[in-house]
Amino acid sequence: MNPGTDRRQRLYRLSAIVLKRRDMGEADRLLTVLTRDRGKLTLVAKGVRKSASRKAGHVEPFTHVELLVARGKSLDLITQAETTAAHRRLREDLLLSTWGYYAAELADAFTQDGDPNELLFDLLLETLGRLDQGAEPALAARYYELHLLSLVGYQPQLFRCVQCGELLEPETNFFSLARGGALCPKHGANEAGTMVLSLPAFKVLRFLQSRSWEQVAQLRLSPAVGGQVESLLARYIVYHLERNVRSVAFLYRLQQELAMAARSDVDPNPDKPEPRR
Ligand SMILES: [Zn+2]
Repeated sequence: MNPGTDRRQRLYRLSAIVLKRRDMGEADRLLTVLTRDRGKLTLVAKGVRKSASRKAGHVEPFTHVELLVARGKSLDLITQAETTAAHRRLREDLLLSTWGYYAAELADAFTQDGDPNELLFDLLLETLGRLDQGAEPALAARYYELHLLSLVGYQPQLFRCVQCGELLEPETNFFSLARGGALCPKHGANEAGTMVLSLPAFKVLRFLQSRSWEQVAQLRLSPAVGGQVESLLARYIVYHLERNVRSVAFLYRLQQELAMAARSDVDPNPDKPEPRR
């Protein structure tokens, strides 16, 4: 038996996005990664918490990495990591990184281990890149939510009434979480558990679902309409996950604190003075 051949057979390469990590023992970490070819996986990164480890910088959350992985008895081991996209700004800015956690948490929550979905991998990678490069975070998140829902089989029906199948008119319609889409006024108004879908929110949702990111990036939403769209999608996501999304609560709290700090002109971060407007 040639030991070199044996070693090569034990090794394989992965293109991966780090979704989350948790400590294991004194120096090791468990990483949950989304890969293009093998879906979601849990891998072991040995020794990464020792400051001298040269792998430490390559296994941060939200980074896109090329991994060389060795088959292990139960979990496979990362033997080499090379960063393709560091998304440095996303990782270093507290608010942006919370958006990043949210995107990663949704991808984690809506996927099963070892069930590859190349389009979802690409969507997450594009979304992290957009957040990193200064896209309006809420818009990038809404676009991500709607497209992720489509890719995992929960695409909300926004063009035809889920009851009668007629094309929906530009007017106040209704939305049913349980039925997975919009209803015309005739069928929505009297059905229990439907929500009113205002015309602006209805238009924005359809636009987000059917247009390219380049078109969506041009949108400027009023806080009221943005809030309606956000709230409908949040309820729809929780309905399908059957649990809350942890990073959402943190994101809300952080946004509120930052808004309050801005209003009272109190610097939330006195060690790093912000330039005055
Ligand atoms: Zn109808």
